[in-house]
Order: sequence, then structure tokens, then C-alpha cells
Amino acid sequence: MSKIFKLSSFPCKQCGASLVFCSKTNALQCEYCETSQPIKIPNTPIVEHDLKHALQEIENSPKTIFEDKLEVNCTSCKGNFVLSQYQRSTKCPYCSTPIITNLDIFYNLTPESLLPFSITQKSAKTSFKKWLDSLWFAPNSLNKYFQKNSKLHGTYIPYWTYDSNTHSEYQGKRGDIYYVTVTKNIVKNGRMVRVDVQEQRIDWSYASGSIDRFFDDILIGASSSLPRLITKNLSPWDLENLVPYDSKYLSGFESETYQVSLDNGFIYAKEIMDYWIKEDVRRDIGGDKQQIDNIKTNFNDLTFKYLLLPIWIGNYKYKNKNYQFAINGRTGQVTGDRPYSYTKIFFAVITGVFITLILFIVDDFSNSGYQNFSNYIISFF
Ligand SMILES: [Zn+2]
Ligand SMILES: [Zn+2]
Repeated sequence: MSKIFKLSSFPCKQCGASLVFCSKTNALQCEYCETSQPIKIPNTPIVEHDLKHALQEIENSPKTIFEDKLEVNCTSCKGNFVLSQYQRSTKCPYCSTPIITNLDIFYNLTPESLLPFSITQKSAKTSFKKWLDSLWFAPNSLNKYFQKNSKLHGTYIPYWTYDSNTHSEYQGKRGDIYYVTVTKNIVKNGRMVRVDVQEQRIDWSYASGSIDRFFDDILIGASSSLPRLITKNLSPWDLENLVPYDSKYLSGFESETYQVSLDNGFIYAKEIMDYWIKEDVRRDIGGDKQQIDNIKTNFNDLTFKYLLLPIWIGNYKYKNKNYQFAINGRTGQVTGDRPYSYTKIFFAVITGVFITLILFIVDDFSNSGYQNFSNYIISFF
């Protein structure tokens, strides 16, 4: 049975125009006649899937060959345009009609849950402007580069979450600091004298043990259109409010299929888990210093979820350079690239040097024995 690529939309029962998802009402809304259609949330639980089993199935399933670009005709104006192989939904470039595809059927995995947009484009812009104003060492004129009418792109970005019950065995060394009194010969006022000084020593002892830790929902961005740092910096997300996937939430928004594979995503998740396990091991070793020689971790009960998270994406140009930024579509948290004002940094450094100099002079004056500040200054010359 061959798979057929299809487009869909949600027409308004009153006027026939397309309904779009409204983040204010959490419902489908007609942009012309104000008809609102609530989205029923089914009672299906959001489940975690066995990771090893899924990877095995992907390995054994036939590979889908994708066209780089998919040509489509708008369901409303019939205008012809192309989608990338990752664009699940978008808007018609000619008439803005929401276009939702069934692209997921060509992938091994389909998203099963998402967080709907709850921040409107308007409030996302307000958050962004506040962020621009709060930046240290940013050029003064920066705010005007982001125009009032600049558009943000509401995009559902794909993410993986990974869970694991880990058991780690480690070997290393524990270092305890102690002090010894050492007698030294030093020159004081032109004479050799013997003094006792305290010297630090470290007592290293062998350490080994085991650590158990459960990781829940390690979140890994599966998009390649947004830099990893941006997807990472938008945390935290209220994953406890995930709803079962429904394409109605996508109507009027961009959305992407995964571009980082399930197994590659797990490599990133493992790095995060390894970091926390190392922290646990250091704490377990104790003492003042720790040296880790070896950690062997078993990742048990590995499970994953494939979900979509709502992000407002925008960019602005400053001095011929493009800066990308993103806003969490649930919390309004902003992250992104930014320019620095070298003039401001220069003056901050100069001010710092000046203050240090003043403090030095004041300190030196109070220790100098001079009663009068002008006499002290004269003594310099
Ligand atoms: Zn309508
Ligand atoms: Zn159109």
C-alpha cells in the first residue's frame, strides 16, 4: 500500500474561511466571522515508549526516500509553492490559508503530544522588547532595529524526551586537605631568620562505590533550523500540561518534523545524564578533592517520547548582520543572538580602571601619615 501525501485544513462552518488555532482561547477561531470551535482533549494518556525496541524497529523498516522539496497547491487559492521535507505545516505564501500536511506518515515516528501556544504574537513581541532593553552592553539604538511590524514565526519545534534508570559503578580517589608546619629560612630586614609556616598537603585515598539515579524527561531539541543552544535555553517547559497530538493546534502555525534522529538525540541525552552522574560520584566520594578514574553506567528502562513545543522565532538585522532569537510560546522566556556595543564596553573598562585608581590613592593616603590631602598629592611630584 503506497502512502499518499495530503493537505488538510479546517474550514469555518459559517463562512467557509479557514479556522486557525487561537492561543488566547485555546480553540479554533475564524479570522473573518469570529466563529470559535473548541478542541476536545481526548482522555488518552501520554505514554513513554521503549527506546531499544523503537530503534530496532527503525533499523528493520524500509528507508523512505524523500524528495528534497515537496510541491503543493494551496487548498484555497490553488497557488503553487514548495515545502521542505521537514515542513509539516505552514501558511500559503499568497493568501495565508493554513496548510497542514500528513508528512509524518513518511517518517518512522509521529508526534504523540504537544504543548499548544499560550502566548500570542503580540505578547511575545513585548517580551522580546523587554529582553532587548535589559541587555548589558547592547547598542542604544538596538530597539529600533526590531520594528513594530516585524513578524515572528510561530513554530512547533520537534523534541525528544528520554527517561532512564541508571546504575553506575565508579573508582577514583578522595583527597583530604591537611596542613603541616614547616620551618623556613627567610630574609627579614636584611637578616636571615627562621619562621614557621603552614603548608597545604592532600591525603589521597582510594574510593569506589555505586550510584543510582532516575532521569525523567531529558529534553533534546530535534530541529536543525534552530541552533542547539537556543532550543536548550528556552527551558523550562511545563511538560505536565502536554496534550495528545492534534493537527488542529497547528492550524495557522509552522511546524517541523524531526531532523535529529532518535538515536542521535539519545547521544545528547546521555551527555546530560553523564554530567549529572559525575556530579553524584563527586558528592559520593566526598572529601575536599575528587579524582574520578572510571565510571561504568548501565542505562536501564530506557524510554522516550516525541513531542512538539511552541516557539516564536524572529530575527533582526544590525549593521548588516542577522541576529536570530526565539521566545518560549508558553512562558515568554527569550533567548537569542545579540550584538555588543564596543563603545559601552570600552567606557565600562575605563571607568573600572579609574575607580580602582581612586581607591588605591585613598587607601595609600590614609596609610601615608599625611594629614592634608594636598600635601600628600604634592609628595608625588
Ligand atoms: Zn467564519
Ligand atoms: Zn493560497
